[in-house]
Amino acid sequence: MVSSSASKQRRTPRHSSVTDARRDGSLSKEPTPAASSKSPAAGNSEDKNGDQPSAGQLDWTKFKRGFTVKNWSARDEAAAAPKNSKKRRRSSLSTGREPLLEENPFDRNLDTYYKVEPVKWWNDTKRYRKFTIANETFRLGETVFVQGHDPGVEPANWVAKVLEVRAANELNVFLRVYWFNRPEDLPMGRQPHHGHNEVIATNTMQIIDALTVNGKATVKHWKETDGEEILDEDTLFWRQTFDCPAGGPVGTLSEIRTHCIDNKPYNPDSTLVYCVNCEKWLHAECVANDVLVKTYEEHNMVVPSSLKRNDVGNDALPVAAKGTATPKSKTPKKTKGKNSTPKVTDNDAAEEEEPEQAFSAEIRIDKGETPKVLVTDARNGKKEVTEKPVHCLFCKNVVA
Ligand SMILES: [Zn+2]
Ligand SMILES: [Zn+2]
Repeated sequence: MVSSSASKQRRTPRHSSVTDARRDGSLSKEPTPAASSKSPAAGNSEDKNGDQPSAGQLDWTKFKRGFTVKNWSARDEAAAAPKNSKKRRRSSLSTGREPLLEENPFDRNLDTYYKVEPVKWWNDTKRYRKFTIANETFRLGETVFVQGHDPGVEPANWVAKVLEVRAANELNVFLRVYWFNRPEDLPMGRQPHHGHNEVIATNTMQIIDALTVNGKATVKHWKETDGEEILDEDTLFWRQTFDCPAGGPVGTLSEIRTHCIDNKPYNPDSTLVYCVNCEKWLHAECVANDVLVKTYEEHNMVVPSSLKRNDVGNDALPVAAKGTATPKSKTPKKTKGKNSTPKVTDNDAAEEEEPEQAFSAEIRIDKGETPKVLVTDARNGKKEVTEKPVHCLFCKNVVA
């Protein structure tokens, strides 16, 4: 957790700049062979009508520091200057000397006001609708991978939404972006419910060098509602936002839908079981856990402590509630893949003093068939498997 917030801070300090983005990568702003082979060429200028000073009036070989974004939430801005806030609109005519509003494409509650500094240099750039790196063209509004490798963290590249493309010349192409966080970048780090492909939409803004872009990214908004397409195994998705205009680890996570007897979120890499009787979703893990507890009790054996964790309200969610409404839809995303077989064994948390666990359980949901629990009895060196029906943890009926 410490290391994840450290890496996050390195990426998006309060006054972030393009040099920060470059520090982690191997790209250099000097025209080295690597850089020249990826020389960005901004295209389709938006400012042909001269509504801005023409770009490149300044001597850009002297531009070393990179750009800094100063921003704050739209709510803070409205509270500080209610009379002026209406006038402050996003506009290409702006001098850049007063804050501009950036509408957050993920959630309008995450709108931010921002200023780019140094103003003089920013105003010496032109706005473009697209830019090209190594023959790949990227457009305004697209989501891109940004070089920034943290070993062991997925995705290895950072992910950003391009809000603005600006250039002074071919060697000075800048992108104003909103970052997506990886779960590792959150204050609490990756949680059990975070999917392998999950990222978190933010309103953390930064200006980065276009040379740090590594390719196009597809990030799907997963609303966890009924009838939604099943998530592709290779596609990144987001379902939560992190309100954090200043960058760094302090911010507010949006609410996340919860399920089951333990009222916890769903990790889309695992399985949910649906009870048609009471129209509730159950974590396959929790079902397996329940079966194991009962199995031990039936045999008049001591239930391993690792299994007694189905109490409602235990282990409260590590997410900060923000007051957004939980989706009302009755049926969220279902099982993924046809033969999901999540396993819960009672071996994992076993302490040395605990005897070797006798039973393990596994939920099987084969396509078109009734879910079942396979209980393995490992006593006496044998591995006897018994098939049992799945009982709903709420209504106790058999899940058909
Ligand atoms: Zn559960
Ligand atoms: Zn039920």
